Amino acid sequence: MSDTQAPEVLKDARGRLEKIYEKLDVSDDARQRLAHPQRLIEVAIPVRMDDGSLQVFQGWRVQYDLTRGPGKGGIRFHPDVSAAEVTALSFWMAIKCAVVDLPYGGAKGGVCVDPKKLSRMELERLSRGYIRAIYDVIGPDLDIPAPDVNTNATIMGWMADEYSNISRRQEPAVITGKPLGLGGSEGRVAATGDGALEVLRIWTERQKKSPKELTVAIQGFGNAGYYFACAAQSLGFKIVALSDSQGAVYSEKGLDVHAIWRHKNKTRKLKGILYSESSVDEEKDVDHISNKELLALDVDVLALAALENQITEDNAEQVQAGLLLEIANGPVTSQADKILADKKIPVLPDVLVNTGGVIVSYFEWIQNSTGDYWSAERVSERMKAVIAKESETCFDLADDEQVDLRTAAYMQGLKRITKAMDDRGTQGYFNGDS
Ligand code: GLU
Repeated sequence: MSDTQAPEVLKDARGRLEKIYEKLDVSDDARQRLAHPQRLIEVAIPVRMDDGSLQVFQGWRVQYDLTRGPGKGGIRFHPDVSAAEVTALSFWMAIKCAVVDLPYGGAKGGVCVDPKKLSRMELERLSRGYIRAIYDVIGPDLDIPAPDVNTNATIMGWMADEYSNISRRQEPAVITGKPLGLGGSEGRVAATGDGALEVLRIWTERQKKSPKELTVAIQGFGNAGYYFACAAQSLGFKIVALSDSQGAVYSEKGLDVHAIWRHKNKTRKLKGILYSESSVDEEKDVDHISNKELLALDVDVLALAALENQITEDNAEQVQAGLLLEIANGPVTSQADKILADKKIPVLPDVLVNTGGVIVSYFEWIQNSTGDYWSAERVSERMKAVIAKESETCFDLADDEQVDLRTAAYMQGLKRITKAMDDRGTQGYFNGDS
Protein backbone atom coordinates (compact mmCIF):
# COMPACT_ATOMS: atom_id res chain seq x y z
CA MET A 1 0.00 0.00 0.00
CA SER A 2 1.61 3.23 -1.16
CA ASP A 3 1.44 6.34 1.02
CA THR A 4 -1.05 8.03 -1.30
CA GLN A 5 -3.49 5.10 -0.92
CA ALA A 6 -2.83 4.58 2.78
CA PRO A 7 -5.47 5.82 5.21
CA GLU A 8 -4.54 8.15 8.06
CA VAL A 9 -3.76 5.50 10.66
CA LEU A 10 -1.04 3.99 8.49
CA LYS A 11 0.37 7.30 7.27
CA ASP A 12 0.49 8.41 10.88
CA ALA A 13 2.35 5.27 11.95
CA ARG A 14 4.90 5.59 9.14
CA GLY A 15 5.16 9.37 9.53
CA ARG A 16 6.55 8.94 13.03
CA LEU A 17 9.57 7.13 11.59
CA GLU A 18 10.67 10.23 9.68
CA LYS A 19 10.99 12.11 12.94
CA ILE A 20 13.11 9.34 14.45
CA TYR A 21 15.38 9.22 11.40
CA GLU A 22 16.38 12.81 12.21
CA LYS A 23 17.74 11.58 15.53
CA LEU A 24 19.07 8.17 14.64
CA ASP A 25 21.59 7.10 12.06
CA VAL A 26 19.62 4.54 10.04
CA SER A 27 21.01 3.01 6.85
CA ASP A 28 19.19 3.67 3.63
CA ASP A 29 18.67 -0.08 3.22
CA ALA A 30 16.90 -0.33 6.57
CA ARG A 31 14.71 2.69 5.79
CA GLN A 32 13.62 1.14 2.54
CA ARG A 33 12.79 -2.17 4.21
CA LEU A 34 10.78 -0.46 6.93
CA ALA A 35 8.68 1.48 4.44
CA HIS A 36 6.68 -1.63 3.45
CA PRO A 37 5.10 -4.61 5.19
CA GLN A 38 6.93 -7.82 4.33
CA ARG A 39 3.73 -9.76 3.74
CA LEU A 40 0.06 -8.83 3.73
CA ILE A 41 -2.54 -11.47 3.06
CA GLU A 42 -6.26 -10.97 2.67
CA VAL A 43 -8.60 -13.90 3.13
CA ALA A 44 -12.31 -14.61 2.75
CA ILE A 45 -13.76 -16.77 5.52
CA PRO A 46 -17.06 -18.49 4.68
CA VAL A 47 -19.09 -19.24 7.82
CA ARG A 48 -22.26 -21.32 8.06
CA MET A 49 -24.61 -19.29 10.25
CA ASP A 50 -27.04 -20.85 12.73
CA ASP A 51 -30.00 -20.18 10.43
CA GLY A 52 -28.36 -22.16 7.64
CA SER A 53 -27.28 -19.16 5.56
CA LEU A 54 -23.66 -18.56 4.54
CA GLN A 55 -21.82 -15.38 5.41
CA VAL A 56 -18.36 -14.54 4.12
CA PHE A 57 -16.10 -12.46 6.37
CA GLN A 58 -13.02 -10.55 5.25
CA GLY A 59 -9.81 -11.08 7.21
CA TRP A 60 -6.11 -10.18 7.09
CA ARG A 61 -2.76 -11.21 8.50
CA VAL A 62 0.11 -8.80 8.06
CA GLN A 63 3.74 -9.56 8.86
CA TYR A 64 5.37 -6.15 8.87
CA ASP A 65 8.92 -7.15 9.56
CA LEU A 66 10.48 -10.50 10.48
CA THR A 67 14.13 -9.50 10.73
CA ARG A 68 14.43 -10.12 14.47
CA GLY A 69 12.42 -13.34 14.61
CA PRO A 70 9.05 -14.89 13.82
CA GLY A 71 6.07 -12.55 13.58
CA LYS A 72 4.15 -11.84 16.78
CA GLY A 73 0.87 -10.06 17.30
CA GLY A 74 -2.78 -10.42 18.13
CA ILE A 75 -5.95 -11.00 16.14
CA ARG A 76 -8.68 -8.38 16.32
CA PHE A 77 -12.39 -8.92 15.66
CA HIS A 78 -14.01 -5.57 14.93
CA PRO A 79 -16.41 -4.14 12.34
CA ASP A 80 -13.96 -1.32 11.49
CA VAL A 81 -10.92 -3.54 10.88
CA SER A 82 -9.22 -2.87 7.54
CA ALA A 83 -6.00 -3.82 5.75
CA ALA A 84 -4.51 -0.42 6.62
CA GLU A 85 -5.36 -0.69 10.30
CA VAL A 86 -3.93 -4.19 10.58
CA THR A 87 -0.79 -3.00 8.77
CA ALA A 88 -0.33 -0.08 11.20
CA LEU A 89 -0.87 -2.43 14.14
CA SER A 90 1.67 -4.92 12.76
CA PHE A 91 4.20 -2.12 12.38
CA TRP A 92 3.67 -1.11 16.02
CA MET A 93 4.15 -4.77 17.03
CA ALA A 94 7.56 -4.80 15.31
CA ILE A 95 8.61 -1.68 17.22
CA LYS A 96 7.10 -2.95 20.47
CA CYS A 97 8.85 -6.33 20.41
CA ALA A 98 12.15 -4.57 19.74
CA VAL A 99 11.62 -1.97 22.51
CA VAL A 100 11.52 -4.78 25.08
CA ASP A 101 14.05 -6.89 23.17
CA LEU A 102 11.89 -9.95 22.45
CA PRO A 103 13.22 -12.17 19.65
CA TYR A 104 10.24 -11.46 17.42
CA GLY A 105 9.22 -9.45 14.41
CA GLY A 106 5.88 -7.65 14.21
CA ALA A 107 2.61 -9.06 12.86
CA LYS A 108 -1.11 -8.58 13.35
CA GLY A 109 -4.37 -10.13 12.23
CA GLY A 110 -7.92 -8.95 11.98
CA VAL A 111 -11.38 -9.98 10.88
CA CYS A 112 -14.01 -7.48 9.86
CA VAL A 113 -16.94 -8.58 12.03
CA ASP A 114 -19.11 -7.36 14.86
CA PRO A 115 -18.60 -10.36 17.16
CA LYS A 116 -21.37 -9.23 19.48
CA LYS A 117 -23.85 -10.17 16.76
CA LEU A 118 -22.64 -13.79 16.48
CA SER A 119 -23.76 -16.78 18.53
CA ARG A 120 -21.09 -18.76 20.35
CA MET A 121 -21.10 -21.44 17.68
CA GLU A 122 -20.88 -18.92 14.85
CA LEU A 123 -17.95 -17.33 16.64
CA GLU A 124 -16.21 -20.68 16.94
CA ARG A 125 -16.74 -21.45 13.26
CA LEU A 126 -15.39 -18.03 12.30
CA SER A 127 -12.31 -18.45 14.54
CA ARG A 128 -11.53 -21.88 13.13
CA GLY A 129 -12.20 -20.66 9.59
CA TYR A 130 -9.73 -17.82 10.03
CA ILE A 131 -7.01 -20.30 11.05
CA ARG A 132 -7.76 -22.53 8.05
CA ALA A 133 -7.42 -19.45 5.84
CA ILE A 134 -4.04 -18.30 7.22
CA TYR A 135 -2.64 -21.72 8.16
CA ASP A 136 0.23 -21.59 5.67
CA VAL A 137 1.70 -18.34 6.96
CA ILE A 138 1.63 -19.03 10.72
CA GLY A 139 3.58 -21.45 12.91
CA PRO A 140 5.73 -21.52 16.08
CA ASP A 141 8.82 -20.42 14.11
CA LEU A 142 6.99 -18.30 11.55
CA ASP A 143 4.26 -16.14 13.03
CA ILE A 144 2.54 -16.55 16.39
CA PRO A 145 -0.91 -14.96 16.86
CA ALA A 146 -2.45 -13.96 20.20
CA PRO A 147 -5.55 -12.15 21.51
CA ASP A 148 -6.32 -8.51 20.78
CA VAL A 149 -9.49 -6.37 20.79
CA ASN A 150 -12.61 -8.60 21.15
CA THR A 151 -10.70 -11.90 21.16
CA ASN A 152 -9.73 -13.87 24.27
CA ALA A 153 -8.37 -17.14 25.67
CA THR A 154 -11.41 -19.17 24.59
CA ILE A 155 -10.99 -18.03 21.00
CA MET A 156 -7.23 -18.68 21.11
CA GLY A 157 -8.04 -22.20 22.36
CA TRP A 158 -10.30 -22.86 19.35
CA MET A 159 -7.67 -21.46 17.02
CA ALA A 160 -4.80 -23.50 18.49
CA ASP A 161 -7.00 -26.60 18.34
CA GLU A 162 -7.84 -25.95 14.67
CA TYR A 163 -4.16 -25.52 13.86
CA SER A 164 -3.28 -28.84 15.44
CA ASN A 165 -6.23 -30.55 13.72
CA ILE A 166 -4.79 -29.50 10.37
CA SER A 167 -1.14 -30.24 11.18
CA ARG A 168 -2.04 -33.45 13.06
CA ARG A 169 0.50 -32.51 15.72
CA GLN A 170 0.47 -30.93 19.16
CA GLU A 171 1.80 -27.44 18.48
CA PRO A 172 0.68 -25.24 21.36
CA ALA A 173 3.45 -22.70 20.66
CA VAL A 174 1.68 -21.58 17.48
CA ILE A 175 -0.67 -19.30 19.43
CA THR A 176 -0.34 -17.56 22.77
CA GLY A 177 -2.96 -16.29 25.18
CA LYS A 178 -4.57 -19.77 25.30
CA PRO A 179 -6.61 -21.09 28.25
CA LEU A 180 -4.47 -22.65 31.01
CA GLY A 181 -5.77 -26.13 30.19
CA LEU A 182 -4.44 -25.89 26.63
CA GLY A 183 -0.97 -24.66 27.50
CA GLY A 184 -1.71 -21.04 28.34
CA SER A 185 0.51 -19.20 30.76
CA GLU A 186 -0.28 -18.08 34.26
CA GLY A 187 -0.63 -14.31 34.32
CA ARG A 188 -1.35 -13.80 30.61
CA VAL A 189 -4.88 -12.43 31.05
CA ALA A 190 -3.79 -9.67 33.42
CA ALA A 191 -0.41 -9.06 31.77
CA THR A 192 -1.18 -5.98 29.64
CA GLY A 193 -2.80 -4.13 32.54
CA ASP A 194 -0.15 -5.25 35.05
CA GLY A 195 2.68 -4.28 32.71
CA ALA A 196 1.16 -0.84 32.09
CA LEU A 197 0.98 -0.25 35.81
CA GLU A 198 4.62 -1.25 36.19
CA VAL A 199 5.68 1.39 33.63
CA LEU A 200 3.54 3.98 35.42
CA ARG A 201 4.97 2.96 38.80
CA ILE A 202 8.55 3.38 37.60
CA TRP A 203 7.73 6.75 36.03
CA THR A 204 5.99 7.94 39.20
CA GLU A 205 8.94 6.86 41.32
CA ARG A 206 11.33 8.79 39.07
CA GLN A 207 9.11 11.85 39.49
CA LYS A 208 9.34 11.29 43.27
CA LYS A 209 5.57 11.05 43.60
CA SER A 210 3.50 8.60 45.57
CA PRO A 211 0.55 6.76 43.97
CA LYS A 212 -1.59 7.86 46.92
CA GLU A 213 -1.43 11.48 45.75
CA LEU A 214 -2.52 10.66 42.20
CA THR A 215 -5.91 10.47 40.51
CA VAL A 216 -6.51 8.35 37.42
CA ALA A 217 -9.18 8.36 34.70
CA ILE A 218 -9.39 5.32 32.43
CA GLN A 219 -10.90 5.29 28.96
CA GLY A 220 -11.82 1.69 28.09
CA PHE A 221 -12.96 -0.98 30.52
CA GLY A 222 -12.17 -4.15 28.61
CA ASN A 223 -9.54 -6.65 29.68
CA ALA A 224 -6.53 -4.30 29.75
CA GLY A 225 -8.44 -1.40 31.35
CA TYR A 226 -9.94 -3.61 34.04
CA TYR A 227 -6.72 -5.33 35.14
CA PHE A 228 -4.86 -2.03 35.03
CA ALA A 229 -7.57 -0.43 37.20
CA CYS A 230 -7.43 -3.25 39.78
CA ALA A 231 -3.65 -3.23 40.02
CA ALA A 232 -3.49 0.59 40.13
CA GLN A 233 -6.10 0.72 42.88
CA SER A 234 -4.26 -1.81 45.01
CA LEU A 235 -1.09 0.27 44.69
CA GLY A 236 -2.95 3.30 46.06
CA PHE A 237 -3.87 5.27 42.92
CA LYS A 238 -7.36 6.77 43.11
CA ILE A 239 -9.49 5.75 40.11
CA VAL A 240 -11.96 8.61 39.68
CA ALA A 241 -13.37 7.88 36.23
CA LEU A 242 -13.98 4.92 33.92
CA SER A 243 -15.61 4.58 30.54
CA ASP A 244 -16.68 1.95 28.06
CA SER A 245 -18.13 2.22 24.59
CA GLN A 246 -21.52 3.26 25.98
CA GLY A 247 -20.69 5.87 28.58
CA ALA A 248 -18.53 6.99 31.48
CA VAL A 249 -18.77 7.32 35.25
CA TYR A 250 -17.04 9.70 37.63
CA SER A 251 -16.67 9.99 41.39
CA GLU A 252 -14.39 12.46 43.09
CA LYS A 253 -14.10 10.10 46.08
CA GLY A 254 -12.91 7.25 43.89
CA LEU A 255 -14.75 4.38 42.19
CA ASP A 256 -15.07 0.79 43.36
CA VAL A 257 -13.52 -0.88 40.33
CA HIS A 258 -14.44 -4.44 41.32
CA ALA A 259 -18.10 -3.59 41.95
CA ILE A 260 -18.38 -1.83 38.60
CA TRP A 261 -16.79 -4.79 36.81
CA ARG A 262 -19.16 -7.21 38.55
CA HIS A 263 -22.11 -5.07 37.60
CA LYS A 264 -20.95 -4.70 34.01
CA ASN A 265 -20.69 -8.46 33.67
CA LYS A 266 -23.85 -9.39 35.53
CA THR A 267 -26.00 -9.71 32.47
CA ARG A 268 -23.29 -11.31 30.40
CA LYS A 269 -25.09 -14.05 28.61
CA LEU A 270 -23.52 -16.40 26.44
CA LYS A 271 -24.56 -14.70 23.37
CA GLY A 272 -21.40 -13.07 24.21
CA ILE A 273 -19.04 -15.34 26.06
CA LEU A 274 -16.83 -12.36 26.06
CA TYR A 275 -18.99 -9.44 25.31
CA SER A 276 -20.73 -7.78 28.18
CA GLU A 277 -24.22 -6.58 27.46
CA SER A 278 -24.39 -3.96 30.17
CA SER A 279 -22.26 -0.92 30.63
CA VAL A 280 -20.50 1.13 33.32
CA ASP A 281 -23.08 3.72 32.35
CA GLU A 282 -25.72 1.80 34.33
CA GLU A 283 -23.86 2.39 37.63
CA LYS A 284 -25.75 4.09 40.44
CA ASP A 285 -24.38 6.60 43.00
CA VAL A 286 -21.84 8.05 40.59
CA ASP A 287 -21.87 10.94 38.15
CA HIS A 288 -22.50 10.03 34.55
CA ILE A 289 -20.32 11.86 32.08
CA SER A 290 -19.57 11.52 28.38
CA ASN A 291 -16.46 9.98 26.90
CA LYS A 292 -15.53 13.46 25.69
CA GLU A 293 -15.75 14.83 29.23
CA LEU A 294 -13.67 11.96 30.57
CA LEU A 295 -10.85 12.75 28.15
CA ALA A 296 -10.86 16.37 29.33
CA LEU A 297 -10.84 15.66 33.09
CA ASP A 298 -8.35 17.43 35.32
CA VAL A 299 -6.66 14.26 36.65
CA ASP A 300 -3.04 13.31 37.24
CA VAL A 301 -3.12 10.36 34.86
CA LEU A 302 -5.34 9.77 31.84
CA ALA A 303 -5.03 6.10 30.86
CA LEU A 304 -6.19 5.33 27.31
CA ALA A 305 -7.22 1.68 27.10
CA ALA A 306 -9.80 1.67 24.28
CA LEU A 307 -8.91 1.96 20.59
CA GLU A 308 -6.62 4.02 18.35
CA ASN A 309 -7.15 7.69 17.39
CA GLN A 310 -8.84 8.85 20.60
CA ILE A 311 -6.77 12.00 21.20
CA THR A 312 -6.54 13.86 17.94
CA GLU A 313 -5.94 17.43 16.79
CA ASP A 314 -9.64 18.04 17.49
CA ASN A 315 -9.58 17.34 21.23
CA ALA A 316 -5.90 17.46 22.33
CA GLU A 317 -6.25 21.10 23.31
CA GLN A 318 -8.91 20.16 25.90
CA VAL A 319 -6.73 17.57 27.65
CA GLN A 320 -5.94 18.70 31.20
CA ALA A 321 -4.37 15.52 32.60
CA GLY A 322 -0.85 15.69 33.99
CA LEU A 323 0.24 12.57 32.10
CA LEU A 324 -1.11 10.30 29.35
CA LEU A 325 -0.66 6.56 29.61
CA GLU A 326 -1.23 4.70 26.32
CA ILE A 327 -2.48 1.22 27.19
CA ALA A 328 -4.25 0.74 23.83
CA ASN A 329 -2.31 0.75 20.57
CA GLY A 330 -2.13 4.15 18.87
CA PRO A 331 -4.65 6.13 20.96
CA VAL A 332 -2.86 9.47 20.32
CA THR A 333 -2.29 10.70 16.75
CA SER A 334 0.96 12.40 15.77
CA GLN A 335 -0.89 15.71 15.28
CA ALA A 336 -2.11 15.44 18.86
CA ASP A 337 1.42 14.59 20.00
CA LYS A 338 2.54 18.06 18.89
CA ILE A 339 -0.27 19.82 20.75
CA LEU A 340 0.38 17.80 23.92
CA ALA A 341 4.10 18.58 23.69
CA ASP A 342 3.28 22.30 23.52
CA LYS A 343 1.08 21.89 26.57
CA LYS A 344 4.00 20.05 28.27
CA ILE A 345 1.90 16.95 28.91
CA PRO A 346 4.14 13.87 28.76
CA VAL A 347 2.86 10.75 27.00
CA LEU A 348 4.04 7.33 28.16
CA PRO A 349 3.89 5.58 24.76
CA ASP A 350 2.01 2.42 23.76
CA VAL A 351 5.10 0.68 22.37
CA LEU A 352 6.48 0.56 25.90
CA VAL A 353 3.38 0.76 28.13
CA ASN A 354 1.38 -2.14 26.69
CA THR A 355 4.24 -4.61 26.24
CA GLY A 356 3.24 -6.68 29.31
CA GLY A 357 0.89 -8.75 27.12
CA VAL A 358 3.42 -9.68 24.49
CA ILE A 359 6.15 -10.27 27.10
CA VAL A 360 3.99 -12.89 28.84
CA SER A 361 3.06 -14.26 25.40
CA TYR A 362 6.78 -14.77 24.87
CA PHE A 363 6.97 -16.61 28.19
CA GLU A 364 4.02 -18.77 27.12
CA TRP A 365 5.81 -19.63 23.86
CA ILE A 366 8.95 -20.60 25.82
CA GLN A 367 6.89 -22.74 28.21
CA ASN A 368 5.11 -24.47 25.29
CA SER A 369 8.41 -25.09 23.54
CA THR A 370 10.21 -26.49 26.59
CA GLY A 371 7.34 -28.16 28.44
CA ASP A 372 8.52 -26.42 31.62
CA TYR A 373 5.57 -24.49 33.08
CA TRP A 374 6.10 -21.54 35.44
CA SER A 375 4.26 -20.34 38.53
CA ALA A 376 2.24 -17.11 38.49
CA GLU A 377 4.87 -15.51 40.73
CA ARG A 378 7.69 -16.39 38.37
CA VAL A 379 5.81 -15.05 35.35
CA SER A 380 4.97 -11.79 37.12
CA GLU A 381 8.50 -11.30 38.49
CA ARG A 382 10.14 -11.90 35.12
CA MET A 383 7.67 -9.70 33.25
CA LYS A 384 8.23 -6.85 35.67
CA ALA A 385 12.01 -7.29 35.44
CA VAL A 386 11.90 -6.92 31.63
CA ILE A 387 9.60 -3.89 31.82
CA ALA A 388 11.69 -2.24 34.54
CA LYS A 389 14.95 -2.66 32.64
CA GLU A 390 13.60 -1.44 29.31
CA SER A 391 11.60 1.43 30.85
CA GLU A 392 14.65 2.75 32.72
CA THR A 393 16.70 2.54 29.50
CA CYS A 394 13.99 4.43 27.61
CA PHE A 395 13.56 7.13 30.26
CA ASP A 396 17.36 7.63 30.46
CA LEU A 397 17.55 7.88 26.67
CA ALA A 398 14.82 10.55 26.68
CA ASP A 399 16.82 12.53 29.27
CA ASP A 400 20.17 12.09 27.52
CA GLU A 401 18.88 12.95 24.04
CA GLN A 402 16.41 15.57 25.26
CA VAL A 403 13.57 13.95 23.32
CA ASP A 404 10.00 13.03 24.23
CA LEU A 405 9.27 9.56 25.59
CA ARG A 406 7.74 8.25 22.36
CA THR A 407 10.78 9.30 20.35
CA ALA A 408 13.03 7.63 22.93
CA ALA A 409 11.03 4.38 22.82
CA TYR A 410 11.07 4.33 19.00
CA MET A 411 14.82 5.04 19.00
CA GLN A 412 15.34 2.12 21.38
CA GLY A 413 13.28 -0.26 19.21
CA LEU A 414 14.56 0.96 15.86
CA LYS A 415 18.19 0.67 16.92
CA ARG A 416 17.63 -3.04 17.49
CA ILE A 417 15.65 -3.62 14.29
CA THR A 418 18.00 -1.70 12.03
CA LYS A 419 21.06 -3.31 13.63
CA ALA A 420 19.59 -6.72 12.73
CA MET A 421 18.88 -5.50 9.19
CA ASP A 422 22.38 -4.09 8.80
CA ASP A 423 23.91 -7.28 10.19
CA ARG A 424 22.47 -9.03 7.14
CA GLY A 425 24.53 -6.72 4.93
CA THR A 426 23.98 -3.18 3.70
CA GLN A 427 24.78 -1.46 0.43
CA GLY A 428 28.02 -0.18 1.99
CA TYR A 429 28.99 -3.70 2.97
CA PHE A 430 28.46 -5.02 -0.53
CA ASN A 431 30.37 -2.07 -1.99
CA GLY A 432 33.27 -3.10 0.23
CA ASP A 433 33.04 -0.04 2.56
CA SER A 434 32.83 -2.04 5.76
N1 GLU B 1 -2.54 -7.91 21.18
C1 GLU B 1 -1.51 -7.65 22.13
C2 GLU B 1 -0.69 -6.45 21.72
O1 GLU B 1 -1.13 -5.62 20.93
C3 GLU B 1 -0.67 -8.88 22.43
C4 GLU B 1 0.14 -9.42 21.31
C5 GLU B 1 0.81 -10.76 21.61
O2 GLU B 1 0.75 -11.21 22.74
O3 GLU B 1 1.36 -11.32 20.68
O4 GLU B 1 0.38 -6.24 22.21
